[in-house]
Amino acid sequence: MDQQFQGAAGRPRILIVGGVAGGASCAARARRMSEEAEIIMFERGPFVSFANCGLPYHVGNVIPDEADLLVATPEHFRARFNIDVRVQNEVRLIDRDSKEVEVKDLTTGNVYRESYDALVLSPGATPIRPPLPGIDLPGIFVLRTIPDSREIREWIDSRQVKRAIVVGGGFVGLEMVENLAGRGISVEIVEMLPQVMAVLDPEMALPIEDHLTAKGVTLHLGDAVAGFEPDVDGNAITVRTKSGQGYACDMVILAIGVRPEVKLAGEAGLEIGELGGIRVDDRMRTSDGSIWAVGDAVEVRDVITGQWTLLALAGPANRQGRIAADVILGRDSVFRGVQGTAVCGVFDITVAATGASERTLRRNGINGKPAQYDKVYLHTTDHVDYYPGARDMTIKLLFSTPDGKVLGAQVVGEDGVAKRIDVLSMAIQKGATVFDLEESELCYAPQFGAAKDPVNIAGMIAANALRGDAPLVHWEDIDRAYSMILDVRTPGEYEAGHVEGAVNMPVNALRGRMEELPRDREIVPYCIVGYRSYFATRILRLNGFNVRNIIGGTMSHDIYQRLSRR
Ligand SMILES: Cc1cc2nc3c(=O)[nH]c(=O)nc-3n(C[C@H](O)[C@H](O)[C@H](O)COP(=O)(O)OP(=O)(O)OC[C@H]3O[C@@H](n4cnc5c(N)ncnc54)[C@H](O)[C@@H]3O)c2cc1C
Repeated sequence: MDQQFQGAAGRPRILIVGGVAGGASCAARARRMSEEAEIIMFERGPFVSFANCGLPYHVGNVIPDEADLLVATPEHFRARFNIDVRVQNEVRLIDRDSKEVEVKDLTTGNVYRESYDALVLSPGATPIRPPLPGIDLPGIFVLRTIPDSREIREWIDSRQVKRAIVVGGGFVGLEMVENLAGRGISVEIVEMLPQVMAVLDPEMALPIEDHLTAKGVTLHLGDAVAGFEPDVDGNAITVRTKSGQGYACDMVILAIGVRPEVKLAGEAGLEIGELGGIRVDDRMRTSDGSIWAVGDAVEVRDVITGQWTLLALAGPANRQGRIAADVILGRDSVFRGVQGTAVCGVFDITVAATGASERTLRRNGINGKPAQYDKVYLHTTDHVDYYPGARDMTIKLLFSTPDGKVLGAQVVGEDGVAKRIDVLSMAIQKGATVFDLEESELCYAPQFGAAKDPVNIAGMIAANALRGDAPLVHWEDIDRAYSMILDVRTPGEYEAGHVEGAVNMPVNALRGRMEELPRDREIVPYCIVGYRSYFATRILRLNGFNVRNIIGGTMSHDIYQRLSRR
């Protein structure tokens, strides 16, 4: 154990600003680390330790009782942890010279000071409300707190809302879409980017967009909001967009992201990073050795790209809170950085991701250098087809070349998605390669997976490519002048529709028709998903042909064509 961060009396006085994910977890951990420490947690809102992640589901009546969102109360913190919790008390100033904070009791108006040996900031992030015309109209909401969810629920009930517009197609936006639709409200999304879920690459977002459309949600992609106008009697709002469109609705949810709350830290002269978050080291210490900061308010290192990033997720906030408490109380815990492991339900499908997307790799590189990477797509099912209820699943796996280190993964499907991303997330944390994925021992029974789990298969496809057993090519990279596109499906499948210029030769006929194939050109076979074309690749390579398998088959081709038309 290292030296404890000590107060003059040998009894550290720890003040914590913010009483939800990072703050509450820091407070509880601090008590578990020290029975002597004096711990005071300030929260300007009326609740501590509430489940902000559950708020969309409370709005949607999936969690009807607000009390179920309260993970712990001030009384619980007092009774179990001997922590002094002060709700509706806002910390307004940090006096670093005297090591004091100034607090306003919002119920009495009383302003007072408290001294600290260690101060932890976990003030979170504020939903962005851009200064657009009409932004303050009644009926335009953000969702961060329990009082926000109360206002939204009240508006829906009292106005009998029929039409809602959600601005922003990220995690919170899509959760709100699902929950509003679940209450019988007709929902439209306005999203500035040409896709929903910006953490995904566009080809992985496309199935989500299709699913939203199938569920009756109207998407307006690639168009930013320019302002809001009330109708004459004030009962409806028109959302105006930059392209000149106007969409009428009864309420608007703004879900266009969050900004770290750094006012307190900035005014106290703590270092703020280029992305606008509080700068901390890997022990969550700010530029002042007596002040720590955690959660949505801080900048963290992305373990894949090596760059600073902002990541508003509950898991990292909780872990950072624990680490700050450890370090303050003498244990040298280290925060490893983030890889952005996240999951979201969108009606009947689940979407999850970990590590870098292809877009991030292209834009940020790895440790300041251009990323050398490749990718595989696996269109499969969550468990063996012969067991009832198998559901489609698509995996995109990104890995570095030539060493095969796993860099990122995205999975979309109806079932078993979170399980695959969690395995891949752990693989990234442990610096695993696609060769490790190939060999991973994962649980299997027919209703849960396959003897070769989709994670194994994704690893095998990538490992086979890196070993040169079955090199890969992507639709966008095919040199059509040099390569012969070979459709290895059945003649019936070929006749029902095939890729332009493709020659048909079913995989089972290849061995008898090899003299028809060129030896002076590359052959690129495809099927529906890349499975039969993998066999074709092996047969032809073993017979001396120059072959690369088109990964993802016609399923990826359809997506590729739709995206190229955008
Ligand atoms: C609707 C919604 C859904 C979400 N869903 C998920 C999800 O499914 N999965 C996931 O991983 N993450 C989710 N998140 C994100 C997750 O909730 C946050 O990343 C996490 O709560 C951040 O913890 P934090 O401690 O940094 O900030 P918060 O939990 O926001 O807590 C900060 C607290 O500090 C208080 N505060 C700020 N300044 C002061 C001050 N000066 N004095 C006193 N108190 C102050 C604020 O009132 C606030 O209560 C969701 C967030 C929202 C809003």
